[in-house]
Amino acid sequence: DVIRNEEIQAARLKLPILAEEQQIMEVVNDNPVVIIAGETGSGKTTQVPQFLFEAGYALKKQIAVTEPRRVAAISMSQRVALEMNLSSREVSYLIRFEGNVTEDTKIKFMTDGVLLKEVQSDFLLSKYSVVVLDEAHERQRLVFRSVYTDILIGLLSRIVPLRHKRGDPLKLIVMSATLRLEDFTLNRRLFRNPPPVVKVDARQFPVTIHFNKRTNDDYLKDAFNKAVKINTKLPEGGILIFVTGQQEVNSLVRKLRKAFPLRHKEQILERSAELRENGDEDVEEGMRTALRKKRKLKILPEINLDDYSVPGDTEHASDDDDITDEDDSNVEVTTITNAQPLWTLPLYSLLPSHKQQKVFQPPPPGCRLCVVSTNVAETSLTIPGVKYVVDTGKAKVKLYDKVTGVTSYVVHWTSKASADQRAGRAGRTGPGHCYRLYSSAVFNDTFQDYSVPEIQQKPVDDLYLQMKCMNVDKVVNFPFPTAPDLLQLKTAESRLETLGALKAGKVTPLGRAIARFPLLPRYGKMLALSHQQDLLPYTICLVAALSVQEVLLEVPVLQTSLEEKKQTRQRWATTRLQWAGQGNSQLLGDNMVLLKAVGAAEYANTQGKLERFCEENGLRHKAVVEIRKLRLQLTNEIKNNVPDAEVVVDPKLEPPTDLQAKLLRQVLLSGMGDQIARKISLDEVKEGEDKARFKYAYQANNMEEPVFLHQGSVLKKLLPQFVVYQEVYETNKMYMRGVTAIEPE
Ligand code: ADP
Ligand code: MG
Repeated sequence: DVIRNEEIQAARLKLPILAEEQQIMEVVNDNPVVIIAGETGSGKTTQVPQFLFEAGYALKKQIAVTEPRRVAAISMSQRVALEMNLSSREVSYLIRFEGNVTEDTKIKFMTDGVLLKEVQSDFLLSKYSVVVLDEAHERQRLVFRSVYTDILIGLLSRIVPLRHKRGDPLKLIVMSATLRLEDFTLNRRLFRNPPPVVKVDARQFPVTIHFNKRTNDDYLKDAFNKAVKINTKLPEGGILIFVTGQQEVNSLVRKLRKAFPLRHKEQILERSAELRENGDEDVEEGMRTALRKKRKLKILPEINLDDYSVPGDTEHASDDDDITDEDDSNVEVTTITNAQPLWTLPLYSLLPSHKQQKVFQPPPPGCRLCVVSTNVAETSLTIPGVKYVVDTGKAKVKLYDKVTGVTSYVVHWTSKASADQRAGRAGRTGPGHCYRLYSSAVFNDTFQDYSVPEIQQKPVDDLYLQMKCMNVDKVVNFPFPTAPDLLQLKTAESRLETLGALKAGKVTPLGRAIARFPLLPRYGKMLALSHQQDLLPYTICLVAALSVQEVLLEVPVLQTSLEEKKQTRQRWATTRLQWAGQGNSQLLGDNMVLLKAVGAAEYANTQGKLERFCEENGLRHKAVVEIRKLRLQLTNEIKNNVPDAEVVVDPKLEPPTDLQAKLLRQVLLSGMGDQIARKISLDEVKEGEDKARFKYAYQANNMEEPVFLHQGSVLKKLLPQFVVYQEVYETNKMYMRGVTAIEPE
């Protein structure tokens, strides 16, 4: 029996889905596949797993719940454990690099990628009595289209009848917002008998939509001004602001905290408790700053709301998420004295989950809640008490060019469906308002309904290989709810043939070895080819580092003066040149720097000085931590698969010898042989073109435009004739990332 605490039980009883428990469980008991549709916040994710548990579905086997995002998997497992008074041993999560699953796990939250891996080793998913695919609508939305969910649904549509035949039935529950349910109910290839749909009514209050008359380019400034207006002129109620990414969140939070500082001692204490939790902030200092702010309040003149300017946020993209008050001396925002203090919190997926949890707690007394969020607050997490939504209408999209493989991030209009979701967040606790910072004309004419422009789909190499390993012969004929792009599938197939993972459409032994790793096939191949000369520890380390984004920073985030920044950059550049070393190690280039950086960080960690080391040498601390996890995981994976390989994660990994560095260059080439570039000689530069522009220019094998060695590349000194690169990204020019020399000159 589940014994819940009173407060929790009271909150549950307010959720509309609780009234439907009996009906839902009857339909689930009577049908192999059920669709549960309901607005965000109606209680699907937190309650349905509990219904299943109480109905006995976890007695013999486990309950699986898949989430398209890691944030949701972690935070929902914690929430459900709390509501049920169970520990994380029983309500657990598993995501790509971490988890807390035990033998006692009853309810297991995981990402859909993880479940897909499990299908490979146990096609019938025999551990589970029920699989709940949560947020199935996400697969249709602009930014997070997940092919994993599509494959899972396709596979489960076959697994469910198979389990039924064996007399060991598996239930499938697909949970979704009320979007495009026809994809599941009308697709006869997927489910021959259309599954029943249970609709959960949400208590949704009316939300008044306000469009801007004009659409301004500087949506961050608009968002700031709108928040100022709301906090100074409109009645009580939380504010939720949607922007596109971590940097935007942080910068806006900083400005709002500066404009509406906390006033009372308790509020300041709360914030300094928060700072203390950050662990990386001197509490005393935090307090002093806060108190200094408080004093400043009295001196500053009132400002005119109609003449409010905020400089554009042109700072370099950094992943720093710790918004300290010290950071903002370059933000010219004046404190507003006659308004209520604003309890401003950031929210985005990479924010540590204990910080995410803050948005669920009430603000300190006397403060208004204001959450600045990426689109995680759209459907994954529901924030209580929001009355005003400020929607910039934008979302950040990773573009991936199918032909060239160039990736870039662009800020894009979101879809109508997602704008409506955003607006809906204002009507959870009472009537609300949504301020759209764009005109109704833009919304009507420019926003897509919900479909995904083709170019935004990720490469499907790993997925294609995994399906092949599951003996799906003709991937094109697979019962996808929505078929992936044909060209994508073809490109994946040919790349896998090139890698040697497939031969004449069949998986090779190398292909099977590659598929075991939770990595892109090219990295899997690099590992599979490293059984010589003690290369494995280096390849593991390198692959781990290459799988994590932005390990080495280019521009310091902490210093404020330009001069200081310049000096730090120079110091980093010198260190990196030293790390690159001489001979083959130097030719290994950017990848040698990565290896050394990770090695040195690992060593600093054994001395308890990791954070300081990262700060001094321009490493992103979180990236280093993630690399470490991945190294451990890969090392274990290899130990399990190749018992005679003696690999350990050595905190004092010696740098590779010259021979090893040479072999590592070959290993890199074997995995990324399709990504080669040749130095453009100055003779090739056309008459009239600026030769100086071509100093660091290369011709990549599959691209027309030249690509360049990036700012910080240690190979700029050598300018090798041929290089192999990890990826090309586009900012003002096309740059190669992770470059290693193939031919010296
Ligand atoms: P759905 O999945 O239908 O969108 P959820 O089950 O996620 O709905 O949320 C139901 C309710 O539980 C929401 O009102 C939300 O605010 C609340 N809730 C979810 N997670 C937490 C949490 N960690 N702390 C407090 N309340 C939460
Ligand atoms: Mg949910």
